[in-house]
Amino acid sequence: MTHLSYVNENTDAWQTYLAQIDRVAPHLGELAYYLDTLKRPKRTLIVDVPLVMDDGSIQHFEGYRVQHNLSRGPGKGGIRYHPSVDLNEVMALSAWMTIKTAVLNLPFGGAKGGVRVDPSKLSTRELERLTRRFTTEISPIIGPQKDIPAPDVGTNPNIMGWMMDTYSTTQGHTVTGVVTGKPVHLGGSLGRVRATGRGVFVTGLEAAKKINLTIENSKVVVQGFGNVGSEAAYLFNQANAQVVAVQDHTGTIFNPNGIDIKALQKYVEEHRGLAGFSGAEPIDNEALWDVEMDIFVPAALEGQITVERAKRLTAKLVLEGANGPTYPAADDILIERGVTIVPDVICNAGGVTVSYFEWVQDMASYFWTEDEINQRLDKLMIQAIADVWAMADQKSCSLRTAAYILACERILIARKERGIFPG
Ligand code: NAD
Repeated sequence: MTHLSYVNENTDAWQTYLAQIDRVAPHLGELAYYLDTLKRPKRTLIVDVPLVMDDGSIQHFEGYRVQHNLSRGPGKGGIRYHPSVDLNEVMALSAWMTIKTAVLNLPFGGAKGGVRVDPSKLSTRELERLTRRFTTEISPIIGPQKDIPAPDVGTNPNIMGWMMDTYSTTQGHTVTGVVTGKPVHLGGSLGRVRATGRGVFVTGLEAAKKINLTIENSKVVVQGFGNVGSEAAYLFNQANAQVVAVQDHTGTIFNPNGIDIKALQKYVEEHRGLAGFSGAEPIDNEALWDVEMDIFVPAALEGQITVERAKRLTAKLVLEGANGPTYPAADDILIERGVTIVPDVICNAGGVTVSYFEWVQDMASYFWTEDEINQRLDKLMIQAIADVWAMADQKSCSLRTAAYILACERILIARKERGIFPG
């Protein structure tokens, strides 16, 4: 299959990315000559993952690893386990990683992987076998200097531990730097689990200052209450904002006086979802979009803010914890309505930034304290959003386009200086 045939199939997420890239072209000057390099992934691997189920039957799952661009360093990006994973989605997610690592000026390219599977339907042993077989299938193209996976939706530190162990077995020695987001005892970094949510909060504070929005007593709505959404909600709650509505795959809850986030975290841990939580009222899922709010944090899946929902959203500030939550046409509507959007490629970059710190610590076999990590994370995120804001002012464009300009300049300068082999 050629690149062009599959980029035209089943297109949402990848088309969203292409539309975002096209908006940058007029700002790139002579570097636009190289822009097509970002419109196709460098390397795409599709694997079959056969799994012997606990009952002795065999099931097959389709898995992917896409390396979108490696001009600035090894591939970096998570592994998603979800029933809707497909090549189109993984391609888009890998491309957003290319942009994200460049916005943060980390020495990585962009990659992403996934398996089309519902992990909640597997036993722990089945999940481990699936992970180990998938890792073996993609091991020819991953490695600490080649491509470094991490957790994403449906995966977690334990799964990263199995990936590290499986890859190490094939190499004959322990290779901690092959994945990030590992358990701390296996070379993981302190602060990694909470880093993405922290980054959403930190960039949110910076953006709020710029638009004169006071966090205290502001109303926050969070979609997705997993790794990213629950930490962002917790930090806003700690800063005396009121988290008035939360949605996850089990439903939507609302409390106009603010939800007790610590209690909700405990409940979700025990019940694997927020349905039934007594500290708020259940509301219709679609009613989430009409709740009165100052800040909206989409932290579930892509393609959530449609044109129709963008017209209804009352938020002044949207913090994209999720990757690709806003369709380009919806982006335009929000901007026209004066809503500030901190785009995913900077807002949720806290995770990949601490993943970078984890990789550096693994290389050096020397580990930092959580305070050191959080300080370095905050510093890089604050610098990155300041750079993006300055670019947006200079070019009179949205923060998203500004982030893409900054990233594309860095990536395409690397492309230009490396040259195109064999020339
Ligand atoms: P997670 O699996 O921990 O949580 C996902 C959350 O989304 C869960 O609360 C789930 O119930 C909810 N959800 C799933 N389907 C939903 C639906 N249809 N409607 C409403 N809620 C739904 O995943 P995560 O790691 O928190 O990732 C969330 C988003 O953040 C994804 O877009 C991911 O790519 C992005 N992201 C994650 C990281 C990270 O470090 N984990 C880093 C950058 C970006």
